[in-house]
Amino acid sequence: MDIPLKTRFAPSPTGLMHFGNLRTALFNYLYAHHQGGALLLRIEDTDTGRSETHFRDAILRDLQWLGLEWQEGPFYQSERQAIYNDYYERLQQAGRVYPCFCTDEQLAITRKVQLASHQPPRYPGTCRRLTAEQIEAKSIANIPFTLRFEVANQQVVEFQDLIKGNQRFETDHIGDFIIRRGDGSASFMFCNAIDDALMGISHALRGDDHLTNTPRQILILQALNLPIPQYGHFPTILGPDGQRLSKRNGSRSIQELRQEGFLAFGILNYLARLGHHDADNTLLDLNGLSAHFELKNISLSPAHYDPIQLNFWQKEAMHHSSWQDCWQDIRTYVETYVPESSAEAFVEMVKPNLVMPGDAIPWAKAIFADIDYEDKPEVMKVIRDAGVDFYQTASTILGESLLDYPKLVSGLQQKTGLKGKALFFPLRAALTAELHGPELAKILKLLGVEKAQARLAKAVKYASHL
Ligand code: GLU
Repeated sequence: MDIPLKTRFAPSPTGLMHFGNLRTALFNYLYAHHQGGALLLRIEDTDTGRSETHFRDAILRDLQWLGLEWQEGPFYQSERQAIYNDYYERLQQAGRVYPCFCTDEQLAITRKVQLASHQPPRYPGTCRRLTAEQIEAKSIANIPFTLRFEVANQQVVEFQDLIKGNQRFETDHIGDFIIRRGDGSASFMFCNAIDDALMGISHALRGDDHLTNTPRQILILQALNLPIPQYGHFPTILGPDGQRLSKRNGSRSIQELRQEGFLAFGILNYLARLGHHDADNTLLDLNGLSAHFELKNISLSPAHYDPIQLNFWQKEAMHHSSWQDCWQDIRTYVETYVPESSAEAFVEMVKPNLVMPGDAIPWAKAIFADIDYEDKPEVMKVIRDAGVDFYQTASTILGESLLDYPKLVSGLQQKTGLKGKALFFPLRAALTAELHGPELAKILKLLGVEKAQARLAKAVKYASHL
């Protein structure tokens, strides 16, 4: 029987969601959907010192905002301690683990010595050699201890990484590792592996910062006779400067991006192509992105965050949104100027000129508030150069053509002999106090005849005072 494909997103709620963990969520989502499988959500919150409920809530909110739906979960590891205890018990019975009484200070010193002599830092096995009597004595003395998994020497752990291909690790370089912390809670290494097995995860895609954890997790699962998922590790995202992605080189949380006005579809389309090649350069919905997602198209070299690309997809997302969605996005920025009854016409006019929602503000003011060109020398020059006659003629024709823009333009052409820029610049300057911007036909419609006439009159007055 075929095992159904299941991926998972397993964030630790120790901070807000950023590009890195969102891309992990997205790749798992896209892979599951491409293969007709399911995505599971698991919150890895066993580290009570660092996990916070408001981070957990923010992660769930971000996923929902992005439309990344999961089919199973959310499961919370903090509620699964009894299950982990059961598996500790099994490992203890099988003699695969031992209590470790080494203090943090002792371990830090060993580490330092190893690094100084150019050895990879690994646990030297101090407590592996304790006798039953020594263990008993320490336990009676209430010395706190962790539980370590005993890694057999001189063996090799090998697996086929779905992205990086064959991987081979010698156990001599691994060293015995902690699977239960001093406070009794499960270490990431342990509960992450146990849950993947128990939750039927067939494919685990994650950043290659976890690659060296994988042989350890395979050893745990083998010791417990539990199924091992197929792992795929992709290179993590670096900043434009090649350094770790951080605030300093432009990284922001998804929450911050949302507050800045970035659209979910822009972010998703960007991240689906960050370190993953998609020949299709058009804005796609999640179905389209899933259909195009291929593990073989994931790059083996690190992806670099590129704000220009993010902006490109933001612009695409903005331009492809429906007027209703666009209005929702820009509303808070412009509602003091734009009456609800003009929302659709305003959006249709302004949308092609938007990248961020806030870009709509100057156009809302230009149409619905009074315009001024006193502090815009280039606009004043255009109006001055066009002269009184031009605006008087425009006003007369507008009086006849009303909101028929082609009629206004052809009438003006005929009467003034002007065309192209020489005609549109002065018209635009008078109607909007700008030299570039949305289509004039749409602007005229929104202004209405009366307001347009007032602006032409203002230009007449301005031009005649010179
Ligand atoms: N909780 C881990 C993290 O956020 C999950 C790693 C994994 O995907 O296996 O890094």
